[in-house]
Amino acid sequence: MKQFLNFIGGEFVATGKTFENRAPVDNRLIGLVHEAGQTEVNAAVRAARAALKGDWGRMSVARRVELLHAVADEINRRFNDFLAAEMADTGKPKSLASHIDIPRGAANFKVFADIVKNVPTESFEMTTPDGGTALSYALRTPVGVVGVVCPWNLPLLLMTWKVGPALACGNTVVVKPSEETPATATLLGEVMKAVGIPDGVYNVVHGFGPGSAGAFLTQHPDVDAITFTGETRTGEVIMAAAAKGVRPVSFELGGKNAGIVFADADFDKAVAGITRSAFENCGQVCLGTERVYVQRPIFDRFVAALKARAEALKIGPSEEPGVGLGPLISREHQQKVLGYYAKAAAEGATLVTGGGVPAMTGALAEGCWVQPTIWTGLPETASVVREEIFGPCCHIAPFDTVDEAIALANDTDYGLATTVWTQDLSTAHRMAREVHVGLCWINSWFLRDLRTAFGGSKASGIGREGGVHSLEFYTELRNVMVKL
Ligand code: NAD
Repeated sequence: MKQFLNFIGGEFVATGKTFENRAPVDNRLIGLVHEAGQTEVNAAVRAARAALKGDWGRMSVARRVELLHAVADEINRRFNDFLAAEMADTGKPKSLASHIDIPRGAANFKVFADIVKNVPTESFEMTTPDGGTALSYALRTPVGVVGVVCPWNLPLLLMTWKVGPALACGNTVVVKPSEETPATATLLGEVMKAVGIPDGVYNVVHGFGPGSAGAFLTQHPDVDAITFTGETRTGEVIMAAAAKGVRPVSFELGGKNAGIVFADADFDKAVAGITRSAFENCGQVCLGTERVYVQRPIFDRFVAALKARAEALKIGPSEEPGVGLGPLISREHQQKVLGYYAKAAAEGATLVTGGGVPAMTGALAEGCWVQPTIWTGLPETASVVREEIFGPCCHIAPFDTVDEAIALANDTDYGLATTVWTQDLSTAHRMAREVHVGLCWINSWFLRDLRTAFGGSKASGIGREGGVHSLEFYTELRNVMVKL
């Protein structure tokens, strides 16, 4: 039986307490995960603190950059191991995991290493009151031990999106992967060891949130900063923990993103774009589109086209050719999504397609499948229009004017992302200015340049990560004033 161990101070550590890791495709047992208790979390934080004082803390930026490139190369060398681990844990289609999760997971180490190597700091020369000169410059120093708490939807990619810049900036990390997806974070421990990252720089503690590794880590007084991706409600709990000791947080949280399609849009591209934004990764993408607004002249045609696309999606396991839709992450999440499907019906939605569980045969019948689902006809107050579902579903409503589209898009507590489809430049720029989000895609979705800022506004997050913006969180700027 496969065992997923904690990785503490460069050693794999078993604990007496395990929980099951099951595959969402067919509910088979993948292995047992060793849950970290307070003792293991304390040990991981101690190891991370000690590493800051050792070789890692004294290492030149050039050597650090070299090592992080080696980490990326080693992930790529073991690409198939990472791919198999991610597919087993998430059930996502191979086409997606092999094009996004693993390559981007590796790239995050190189991109941030290169940014840190090249980014300048400020320097000013000034005249002092006594007529002399002083030189004032900035030094970037690591924040220290960073707690990294991760979700399950893009396990390696979203974890290295934080660990990459944290290490590039000279910090050490204690990672708490999601209890649903322990595999790739554990494998990364082997990679760190193989390429010679000093012991204690990268640590992994497995477990859950409350009363487990997540809470122990975020409440630990010797963790200097916390970066978290997950639900907004969890973010509120972690923020309260971080208040003790006034420790900084970087949060990437939930969303209820609007997709807006104007009548002048390139129709086929808009349909293809919304198909991806609503259904990719079985709708388990924080940037996904669960509210679609379509300008009235093309509304009926658009609904029919999206229905056809949804019904053409092949549902199945990761390795099967042509599969576009995998399962949800767990039975618990399947029940949550099906609960929303039932609520939509109860609230009077017109069901365009889906709404249930697809018929699967053999072992797959045990998997966490749901049908891609489209509704129309609900008021803006309906729960499926207001609350994040995190499933392959969307509600489509018509609108008439640009003002109305802006008001509808903004009528939410969240502010993560939007995708706007139009050929009118003025409309596009106006939407970009007036929709309150961290990320606005025009005639595209999920197109990312890793040098740019990523994050959400309102209840969707705090701070920005990506490019030089990551340095704001992962370093402290120290001002040095030299009287010459
Ligand atoms: P979650 O909040 O349930 O869990 C995330 C992580 O937090 C897990 O590792 C979990 O064990 C841990 N955790 C839970 N309670 C905790 C506590 N009290 N203290 C410390 N740690 C705790 O989120 P999830 O279900 O894993 O992920 C889905 C959510 O993540 C969705 O809301 C989605 O929108 C969001 N998300 C956001 C982004 C983004 O970039 N904004 C990206 C991906 C996912």
